[in-house]
Amino acid sequence: MDGCIFCKIIKGEIPSKKVYEDSNVYAFSDIHPQAKHHILFVPKQHISGLTELNDKETLNNIFFAIKKVTKELGIDGTGYRVCANNGPDAGQTVFHVHFHVLGGQRLSDKMV
Ligand code: 5GP
Ligand code: ZN
Repeated sequence: MDGCIFCKIIKGEIPSKKVYEDSNVYAFSDIHPQAKHHILFVPKQHISGLTELNDKETLNNIFFAIKKVTKELGIDGTGYRVCANNGPDAGQTVFHVHFHVLGGQRLSDKMV
């Protein structure tokens, strides 16, 4: 989608630190990491937010990619957090649905 920063990252028009890619999913390091590992998982298809993501296969693909990458990073045992900011109350800033994965250290117990 024109003007979408994550679509540009997926297309390679904006550089990113790629962590994972398959035919449906792209994952890259957050530009402002909030933990030792802070990775964003996005569908390659432009979908604005979790409310608009209604395709079971896409959700499935993203979560299996998260499981694969966290295992490869060796944080599947120590733990990690998956978070999707959806809409204004959650403070979503990029309107291409994405899942933050944070780990590699002890995380805050604050959820709000
Ligand atoms: P949100 O606030 O929408 O849940 O998260 C958007 C995330 O995208 C933020 O954590 C922000 O640091 C990250 N981000 C924004 N622009 C870029 C960029 O150009 N490159 C990368 N790697 N991350 C970005
Ligand atoms: Zn997009």
